[in-house]
Formats: sequence, C-alpha cells, structure tokens
Amino acid sequence: MERTNPYLSLYKCCRLCPRCCGVDRLAGETGFCGAGATPKIARAALHYWEEPCLSGQAGSGAVFFSHCTLRCVYCQNADISARQQGQEVSEEELAQVFLHLQEQEALNINLVTPGHYLPSILWALELARAQGLHLPVVYNTSGYERVECLRLLRGKVQVYLPDCKYLSAETARRYSGVEDYFGVAVAALDEMVEQTGPPRLDERGVMTGGVIIRQLLLPGRVGEAQRLTATLHARYGDRVYLSLMNQYTPILPQVAPWPELCRTVTPDEYDQWVDHAVDCGVEKGFVQEGDTAEESFIPPFDGSGLPAFLRRG
Ligand code: SF4
Repeated sequence: MERTNPYLSLYKCCRLCPRCCGVDRLAGETGFCGAGATPKIARAALHYWEEPCLSGQAGSGAVFFSHCTLRCVYCQNADISARQQGQEVSEEELAQVFLHLQEQEALNINLVTPGHYLPSILWALELARAQGLHLPVVYNTSGYERVECLRLLRGKVQVYLPDCKYLSAETARRYSGVEDYFGVAVAALDEMVEQTGPPRLDERGVMTGGVIIRQLLLPGRVGEAQRLTATLHARYGDRVYLSLMNQYTPILPQVAPWPELCRTVTPDEYDQWVDHAVDCGVEKGFVQEGDTAEESFIPPFDGSGLPAFLRRG
C-alpha cells in the first residue's frame, strides 16, 4: 500500500518556527514567511563556497529553499527570501533533486533555509533514503528555530550549520525584527549539539557529523561579535566549530535605510575579532581569507541545477 506523508498535519496551525503564526497552510493560508505547503526551491546545485569540510573539491549539494522565517534587512539572498523567487516541487520531486545531487558526486545534501518546509523535507528525505540516498544531510539555518521542530530531525540530519547572529536584543530587533533571537538560538544550538555530538570528519576531511556555528561580522559591530564568540566558546568549547565570516556584502539600495550597513567590514575589524577569538581559546574554527565581500559569491537563483525534468518554463 502506498504511504502518504505523515508529517503534513504540521502545516495546519503552523508552528514550524518561533513566529508561531498558527495559520493553516494546507488550506492556502500564509503566515509571516509567506510559504505555502508545497516546497519551493530556487537552486539545487554543487556549491563550492561553504566551509572546506563541507564543500571540499567536489562541492556541497546545496538546495536553496525560497521564503524565510527571519528576513534580515541585510539578507544576501533576498531574491529568494523576500522576493520569493523559485519553483514549486512535489515531495517526490524533491527526493529526486537530492538523488540527482548525489549522482553529481556532491559531498552532502545541504538544505539551505529549510525550516518552513520541514514536513515536506522530512518526507522527501525518507523517500530519497529508500531509493539509495546515503550522503550526510546538512541543515543550514538562520538559527531561529524551535527545539520541538529540531527534535523531528534527530537521526535524519548529520550536520547542523546554524548562524548565531546576535547577542544583543536591540541589534536583533533592528536588523531582524525579533528581540528574542539569542535565547531562541541558544536553545536551538543546545539541541543541535546534543543530537549530533562533537564534529567528526572522514578520511577525506569531509564532515560527517557535528555542528558548525557561523557568525557573520557586520560593519561596526566588532565588540558585540567578540562578546558573542566568547559566550559561544564558553558554552560549547570544542564541541562545535566556530566559523568567523567577513563576507558581509552591502546590497544596495536594500540596506540604504541603515547607513551603517552600507559598507563592507574592514580588514582591521576582522583581524580584531579573530585575534580576540584566539585569545578566548577558540581552536576549532574557520576564518575567511582575502576579499570575500563580493556579490559574485551570491549564486544565481534561477533554478540552476534542477534536474531537466523539473525545469518548467
Ligand atoms: S513557518 Fe512561516 S507560517 Fe509557519 S510559523 Fe513560521 S513564519 Fe509562520
């Protein structure tokens, strides 16, 4: 007998993220994120710009989901988060997308901003595993997640790749409209670390389990970034990797109303932050070298990489 998606009811009275909108997405209602109950993806392709243990030489199998539950004012992917470009796919088709990336020898399946489609993704992963998907799954998130939802991913996700964006409620409110960001994110991080255990690499240096916490340095925010790094290191120590990112790219005119965001991070700001992290004792971490603040690091969200049978229009 054919099985149907047992997770679908989670779209009714949607509480898939801390916004807890309570809308019935199965009935066509939409909440803050604007997403329906059918997954929409903007790109599914090999991606070479993640941390080296995720991208390697072969590339990470990145699936970019449209819409977002956070929507930061400086979002680097606003074409898909706010302007919601993308193509709807069924859960069976999503499973085929995962398998297609595996055929291209991706090192992992990298789910980018997936939380608002959790019921569909859980089922698509089950369908794909039944058809031979064997790659590790990376859950690449803003960090603004509910612990209750993350628990559903236990055993299905091997690597968590969350942002930890803000320590200060005031900064979180100014740039992402959510004062509770840090408390929510830390509860989510606790769950991720508990689920996966410490970072593990295979003989090729490819990550097979664990958590990488990403911090993106914003211009003029070195002090807060330093305090956040110290807080995260004190809490998790070497049970996680910290990835200290300097690739902030001012997208204009999108960030024009926030004048302080209209420039890149200076090398001196980044050096101050990294030096402080080293002084705090951070050993398991990644830093970025060279000029990473370029729009060319933002891939095109035009359906690239979708299997031919999914290309519509
Ligand atoms: S996933 Fe979307 S609809 Fe559901 S609670 Fe979050 S923002 Fe609201």
